[in-house]
Amino acid sequence: MADVMNDPRHMPPSLWAATAPASPPTTPLAGEAVADLCVVGAGYSGLSTALHAAEAGLSVVVLEAAEIGWGASGRNNGQVIPTLSRLDPDAIVAAVGADKGEPFVALIRDSAALVFDLIRKHGIEAEAVQNGWVQPAHRESRLKISEARVKQWGSRGAPVELVDRARMAAIAGTEHWHGGWLNRSGGRINPLGYARGLAAAAIGAGAKIFTQSPAQSVTRDGARWKVSTPGGHVLAEKLVLATHAYGDELWPGLSSEVIPVRSYQMATEPVGDNVHRSILPEGHALSDTRGDLYFFRFDANRRLVTGGALIIGAGYDGRLRRRIAERAARVFPQLGTPRFDYVWHGYIGVNQDRLPHIHELAPGVYGWTGCNGRGVALATAIGREFARAAAGTPMKELPLPLSPVKPVPARGFARRVAPFAVGYFRWRDTRD
Ligand SMILES: Cc1cc2nc3c(=O)[nH]c(=O)nc-3n(C[C@H](O)[C@H](O)[C@H](O)COP(=O)(O)OP(=O)(O)OC[C@H]3O[C@@H](n4cnc5c(N)ncnc54)[C@H](O)[C@@H]3O)c2cc1C
Repeated sequence: MADVMNDPRHMPPSLWAATAPASPPTTPLAGEAVADLCVVGAGYSGLSTALHAAEAGLSVVVLEAAEIGWGASGRNNGQVIPTLSRLDPDAIVAAVGADKGEPFVALIRDSAALVFDLIRKHGIEAEAVQNGWVQPAHRESRLKISEARVKQWGSRGAPVELVDRARMAAIAGTEHWHGGWLNRSGGRINPLGYARGLAAAAIGAGAKIFTQSPAQSVTRDGARWKVSTPGGHVLAEKLVLATHAYGDELWPGLSSEVIPVRSYQMATEPVGDNVHRSILPEGHALSDTRGDLYFFRFDANRRLVTGGALIIGAGYDGRLRRRIAERAARVFPQLGTPRFDYVWHGYIGVNQDRLPHIHELAPGVYGWTGCNGRGVALATAIGREFARAAAGTPMKELPLPLSPVKPVPARGFARRVAPFAVGYFRWRDTRD
């Protein structure tokens, strides 16, 4: 039997699949399509590219192997976070260089606002709440991280603030954390609703989206690229490869740049009104400073949406229900022992340097990998920049630090041992 989480014929079951508005109608590609731009992958990267390129007047064809939002974009926690997971602005600038460093930091700074602006502009039904994203410190020693982030993001104009212990208790609805920081431009969405809404907006702007249409090869055809699927092909001058952690070897080395790391997501049954009012009462989305991340948010129906990581994937359902119920009850005693209505998972594209790797793979061919778990806002923003590149803006004018494709060495082995990193993170989380 096909694994329902990895079967491209259907959306995997999840809270979001059960609650997002329907996808716009699409069909597989049949025959030849000709466009200015072909986009491979209908997650946020590809859909944002398609929307912005179509709005700029390009003819656009999107090819999606499965369904709109079938990859990470339809399965994530829906936290809209305008930061990278590990690197702060100074480190980003040091890593990518003075030329593109600050422009790229500014792109990240404004990325959450972009998501909520798009949702408002296109009337996307995505349960959007822009009441801030908060990162509490799980040990007093980690308040140093909060201070550094407020200083570095604040000096670059981000709407951030330090949060003391009492205020954090009020924001989170628990004494579990020691304080932290928050970014007011962040928030939460129904991630699949957002993907489907972006798709509808792209179609409205003139893009064509073909689903159940895996790109099997990319070849040169005169002055154009030919992207072939089982049912036909697309001829286009420009190409965006937006397959991320769900990609295969369509372009040499691109998908091998990341290790797909499984992240488990869970949603409780709807909690009672009093409990709902007492946890994250102001509607924040929250991810703490642990390596084995604690993350929580509500959906629009009073379900607490959380999850975690496991070292061993086999038989995950039962173990996860026990582990995360115990965790949630410890963090939020008022919750009692929660029951989960939904458990699902997806793959995050993780790389070694924790930096997004952004490429011009050949003239007019763009792609990126390496969200490292922070991609809702970032993929949207990078997609917009790919659209500008496809529409003719010179790369040197765009805030994208380009790098050569760099596959993870011994990736097969690295992929097998990656889940064991969770054990190390758990140990490190207990140290100052
Ligand atoms: C479980 C989980 C939780 C997460 N939580 C958060 C969060 O709360 N906040 C946050 O900021 N980020 C989060 N992320 C990361 C975020 O979801 C991703 O960074 C983002 O969705 C990446 O979008 P994308 O379009 O680049 O890739 P995807 O959404 O993965 O899209 C890639 C698409 O390409 C398609 N594809 C692959 N190969 C082909 C082919 N050959 N032909 C055609 N189509 C192809 C796939 O089917 C897929 O639909 C999470 C990720 C996961 C997995």
